[in-house]
Amino acid sequence: MRILVTGGAGFIGSALVRHLVLDKGYDVLNVDALTYAGNLASLRAVEGRPGYRFLQADICDRAAMDLAVADFAPDRIMHLAAESHVDRSITGAADFVQTNVIGTFTLLEVARVYWAGLAADERDAFRFLHVSTDEVYGSLADTGLFEETTPYDPSSPYSASKAASDHLAKAWHRTYGLPVVVSNCSNNYGPFHFPEKLIPLTILNALAGEKLPIYGTGENVRDWLFVEDHARALDLIAERGRVGETYNVGGRNERQNIDVVRRICQVLDRLAPGNQPREELIEFVTDRPGHDARYAIDATKLETELGWTAQEDFDSGIEKTVQWYLDNDWWWQPLRDAYAGQRLGLPTGAK
Ligand code: NAD
Repeated sequence: MRILVTGGAGFIGSALVRHLVLDKGYDVLNVDALTYAGNLASLRAVEGRPGYRFLQADICDRAAMDLAVADFAPDRIMHLAAESHVDRSITGAADFVQTNVIGTFTLLEVARVYWAGLAADERDAFRFLHVSTDEVYGSLADTGLFEETTPYDPSSPYSASKAASDHLAKAWHRTYGLPVVVSNCSNNYGPFHFPEKLIPLTILNALAGEKLPIYGTGENVRDWLFVEDHARALDLIAERGRVGETYNVGGRNERQNIDVVRRICQVLDRLAPGNQPREELIEFVTDRPGHDARYAIDATKLETELGWTAQEDFDSGIEKTVQWYLDNDWWWQPLRDAYAGQRLGLPTGAK
């Protein structure tokens, strides 16, 4: 099995590449532009493995993508490359439109032409998995869950750009017959998460005795999934998902942001006792504009149709994640140093 993964140097992409190479023994070409969010250090475990290759390239570069696909001849494309941080999308939306919309369009075109040139049996087996977010559905009230049929209603430039890319991916299936499958997942957490996002930022600020900024009252609800559970789901959806369908991915782990931060503080106080309870570092800051109140995923379709279940519950996953950051400062310290005084440490939301 030959899989072209885009964005494989990012948080979820690197978990997926590790899963495909180490657990499944697949050949993988990782195509990543290495933006600020891409980090080859997350791929040390697969570096040098036969079957693993890396190409530094921009998914918006049509010629580079044509060459990569012609040269590698993938059985599947799993498309994760994106600008992914909501706060950055509010202060600078252009990169989000460029990568998430134009980049996805470019890749769909490249895939369409490549796929059309395959032999009939290869065409039937080919899959283009477009990886997306539950944020495209907008915000939920106190009850209810996002289902695959929930109408799109994105709030931020990030989620609007991802919604646009989802529509393109579905249109390339309906119009051209490209075998596209779409997945929409809730918030991920786990090892190798860039330290601007809520969970790693909280762990590292708390460890350093720095403030723990929380938007608004901290009551916004997110539905958390351990990143390795997401990687397994993506592999399964690409393998067995029905062409033209959407699969929601989520761990049934709804938590208010304030509870997530408190839980991290408690785990850290136990695993790495400090001078004061870390909860005292919590600081409420002005809410993010367009901040969605609640996300929660109904993953029944993925569970019943494809037999996937999340293996990690939130408490065990958080414990593993905190322990990983305690054990792996070689990975995060250079990022904290490089971004000191920039976005890190500023108020951040759940994604
Ligand atoms: P990330 O920001 O950690 O990684 C993105 C990767 O894409 C980086 O390695 C970056 O270098 C690369 N990239 C960015 N622009 C590129 C370009 N123009 N060409 C090539 N590579 C480029 O993101 P992530 O959290 O790993 O998310 C991966 C995917 O999953 C995204 O599509 C995101 O929308 C989606 N998603 C994320 C979450 C989450 O909680 N993080 C949840 C659901 C869905």
